[in-house]
Amino acid sequence: MKQSSRDTTPPSKLVAGRDYPRTYREFVKSFHDDGACAAYLECLRWPNGFKCPACGVTAEPWRQTRGRLVCSACRHQTSVTAGTILDKTRTPLTTWFEAAWHVTTAKNGLSAKTLERTLGTRYRVAWTILQRFRVAMVRAEREQLSGNVEVDEALVGGVEHGAKPGRGTDKCVVAIAVEVKQPKGFGRVRMRHVPDASDFSLRPFVCDMVAPGSTILTDGWSGYSRLSNCGYTHRKTVMSASEDPAHVAMPGVHRIASLLKRWILGTHQGSVSDEHLQSYLEEFTFRFNRRTSRSRGLVFRRLLEQAVATGPVTDAEVTHGYYW
Ligand SMILES: [Zn+2]
Repeated sequence: MKQSSRDTTPPSKLVAGRDYPRTYREFVKSFHDDGACAAYLECLRWPNGFKCPACGVTAEPWRQTRGRLVCSACRHQTSVTAGTILDKTRTPLTTWFEAAWHVTTAKNGLSAKTLERTLGTRYRVAWTILQRFRVAMVRAEREQLSGNVEVDEALVGGVEHGAKPGRGTDKCVVAIAVEVKQPKGFGRVRMRHVPDASDFSLRPFVCDMVAPGSTILTDGWSGYSRLSNCGYTHRKTVMSASEDPAHVAMPGVHRIASLLKRWILGTHQGSVSDEHLQSYLEEFTFRFNRRTSRSRGLVFRRLLEQAVATGPVTDAEVTHGYYW
């Protein structure tokens, strides 16, 4: 075994003097082969140098062929992708990087069908990459919302049976929470596909997503009636007593719901199944919460950072839906 003499390059020096590519040209130049991609992932996964996942020692590893890293303390063999969302992938890292670039730089993302054509891979490969990235995206969104937060439900997807509005549909219920800013504008958003609009479904969503002490704004729906027992200030706008139509009383949630529906209909041609809805919500949330990012390249870096900070998913989870 030969010990590598390669210096640990800080990620800030990897791409034209920065830690992310600003343009597609810089991207192509920086990530021309799997070695360059692996070096970048290594810096994102171990910013303070390789840390052995088995014994926890931080020391420069021995480097073997095909990207194998061997711990110099305990001789444990690993790789930069082992134990991450890219675990055991047979797809080249350059393909993963190309996908990450398009997912984060296209304004509305892209469907698996479009990604298949863009990458020149099989549909199944494109779909798997997208699904795994969506699992990674949720990890980037752990901090709770705070301040003034609107909460409401929206009906998404499914096929309408042409019955009366709100009835005879197989649409999914999506709980939405969004920070509202004064005097106007929105902050971050969170969403969850819930089985129904009961207190039992909605209260855990709010408690998970919103920091105690925040002010929750809802309509008069009974599903929200116990929020003031959970450490929130609850402000209700009762629709029947109000002159305003719903979208004026809850402008934030109304706006998010319409963007979400347009995205599902546009980018995904409306073909989102129940079992995968949550993963689409994660992607929408990830992109929405970074809409003001000063560079798309930063979002690209963030996605890859999460990809190597997130544990593996199984093929069954990719096919039948990930348990969130
Ligand atoms: Zn070790």
